[in-house]
Amino acid sequence: MTAESKIFPNHRSAVPPEGLLEGVEVIDDRFLDLIDVNAEISKHYTGCEWAEGPVYFPEGDYVLWSDIPNNRILKFDAGTGDTMVFREPCNNTNGHFRDHQGRLVSCEHATNRISRTEPDGIVVSLVETLDGKRLNSPNDLIVKSDGTIWFTDPPYGILSDREGNQRDSELAGNYTYRLDPDTGVLSVVDKVGDRPNGLAFSPDEKLFYLADTGDPKDITVFDVSDDGKTLANRRQFAEVRPGASDGFRVDEQGNIWTSARDGVQCYSPEGTLLGKVLIPEQATANLTFGDKDGKRIYICGDTSLYSVRVKVAGAARYW
Ligand code: MG
Repeated sequence: MTAESKIFPNHRSAVPPEGLLEGVEVIDDRFLDLIDVNAEISKHYTGCEWAEGPVYFPEGDYVLWSDIPNNRILKFDAGTGDTMVFREPCNNTNGHFRDHQGRLVSCEHATNRISRTEPDGIVVSLVETLDGKRLNSPNDLIVKSDGTIWFTDPPYGILSDREGNQRDSELAGNYTYRLDPDTGVLSVVDKVGDRPNGLAFSPDEKLFYLADTGDPKDITVFDVSDDGKTLANRRQFAEVRPGASDGFRVDEQGNIWTSARDGVQCYSPEGTLLGKVLIPEQATANLTFGDKDGKRIYICGDTSLYSVRVKVAGAARYW
């Protein structure tokens, strides 16, 4: 059964309808190597209060994503074109990722944890605390080639009941973490970020990118240590405007495809804005590469799920 629309009656509409644009905007001609200027932007589903955290499963050609305020995970089946409820309630999940065994790994606001959905459907907790103190509300995560899970922990799920449960933070800050799911060892990889959010590695995993939706609103880049466990040499990569980068993905050439208020923006590995995929929504939250060749971006834009074909595949491990 198609998932019912659950957009709130008081849904945010700060941008007037005439300000909502759709299409491909080329800023640097290199963008034409990455997307067709006339590429069709498809809207697959409308009915979320805040769509976030898309993840693609090539085995079934489907996308899962979170509708955070409505406490549900939706599933878009690319074969049938239908969208169904995958899990409700879901502990206000946010970001998702697919691990190397094809399992769903999720950030959960309401339970301040990272969970994994086993092949039999059982949901297990991977981590909930740091030194006995509850995490804030894990926001976004990625799985590295070594199987470790890297995630961010800003307070958005505890600031109010809208996206989780309001409460005081038990931690001294909003950190970015590395979790070894085999040993359970949790380590802090960055304490500097204000409200760390989206994250990704470069295709060779020598660089680590981190979005901050606090102050300043930017993407920073770090060097990854030779053992792949720690970060160094933090510096700014890009300031994404309008709005901010919430979530992003890296393609196989190392370009960064990030959300912004006006849609998806694509930055070269050097940090040059190449172009945009304008999405006619109040803000765009996140995206993931999909299709069996990896050459489609699925986009969570406020109330809806969109997609557009591109000419480059997502970096293989990071769909
Ligand atoms: Mg996010």
